Amino acid sequence: MTEKNSGSCFCGAVELEVTGAPEAMGYCHCASCRSWSAGPVNAFTLWKPENVKVTKGAESIGHFAKNPTSDRKFCTKCGGHLMTDHPTFGLVDVYAATIPGVVFAPGVHVNYSETVLPMHDGLPKLRDFPKELGGSGESVPE
Ligand SMILES: [Zn+2]
Ligand SMILES: [Zn+2]
Repeated sequence: MTEKNSGSCFCGAVELEVTGAPEAMGYCHCASCRSWSAGPVNAFTLWKPENVKVTKGAESIGHFAKNPTSDRKFCTKCGGHLMTDHPTFGLVDVYAATIPGVVFAPGVHVNYSETVLPMHDGLPKLRDFPKELGGSGESVPE
């Protein structure tokens, strides 16, 4: 049976469901993620779009695309953040905090060159993005 996990915004008006396992999990340290999340890192889980379904409150989802690679989605009732569409990657980042039932098992740090919170966990630290997502694929020291 395929595993399903549900999540919601801060107030509960919007609910979503993810199916199966994420394609990747990790931490993004970029300035955009920090500013948007009001936190020092974004814990991401990346999914194929067909594995992410909004099950309630779709009409309450607002979005903001500062650039064409990231369309950030939030609840218009509570302002709670939900996910980011990455159309050029063909992936959706459902923030780990949005789907607490999915065991967060980070595999990589991206945009670590911008970090304000160094994390010495032994995981790979990429300067920007992996090569297959259009980045340099270069590692930087912890
Ligand atoms: Zn809400
Ligand atoms: Zn980021």
